[in-house]
Amino acid sequence: MGNMETENLICPVCFGECSLFDVVDFNKSCQEINGKYFHLSGVPIYYARCAACGFCFAPEFSTLSPEEFRAWIYNDEYILVDPGYVEARPRENAAGLLSLFPHLPPSVKHLDYGSGNGLLANLLRESNWNSVSYDPLLDKDVSVERLGKYDLITAIEVFEHVPDVQKLMSDLRLLLSPDGLVLFSTLLSDGNIHANQRLAWWYASPRNGHISLFSKKSLEILAKGQTPNARWNFTSFSEDAHAFYTSVPSWAKYIKRPDAAVT
Ligand SMILES: [Zn+2]
Repeated sequence: MGNMETENLICPVCFGECSLFDVVDFNKSCQEINGKYFHLSGVPIYYARCAACGFCFAPEFSTLSPEEFRAWIYNDEYILVDPGYVEARPRENAAGLLSLFPHLPPSVKHLDYGSGNGLLANLLRESNWNSVSYDPLLDKDVSVERLGKYDLITAIEVFEHVPDVQKLMSDLRLLLSPDGLVLFSTLLSDGNIHANQRLAWWYASPRNGHISLFSKKSLEILAKGQTPNARWNFTSFSEDAHAFYTSVPSWAKYIKRPDAAVT
């Protein structure tokens, strides 16, 4: 990494031409917001930004293999930049989902997409949810086509990590049942990334694997899809909690503010 082509950059969301935006050291991490700085790696990571839809991304990561992601990012030191990843956050998110859906019908099939170690789904199963996990980085031999359909898909702190947003969306479209709901969290870049300013946002951190940074407009474009049949509705409950759906399922109609529960 560190050798960046500057020409022919295409926005992976809206397919418009885009250009390089800024460069940060690979070791820039989300811990900087807590005053923790890791030594500079000397590896420059470029981010590009699409002026049309606001999507900001690190193009070099789009071609990394799962093995390379594990070597560079999701290695033994990842826990230093994301200490809650293994246990604390899955437990918080399980509690949040259980309080958001205290009476989820047992017929509702739930998939946690980008699940890491699978703890979230394990905890939900202990509360009698019909939950399974899938992680594209860990389950690379699993065919998404053969996973079946799910009524509720959660993707908590996943979108900012994906190297290929179109693959993410095609996976979600394959996996969601016709009147299902995708609940996901990723922090919106609106108000945090500005044209003609340096990329100073704490969330734009390659060491955490934050390589895809979404504006609200970019998520709206992804929701529309590329064919009329693929069109989903998109709702943002907060700058961090969002949903895709065709129509709100009956078991979720009462939700007004999922962000109060899903973190
Ligand atoms: Zn774009």
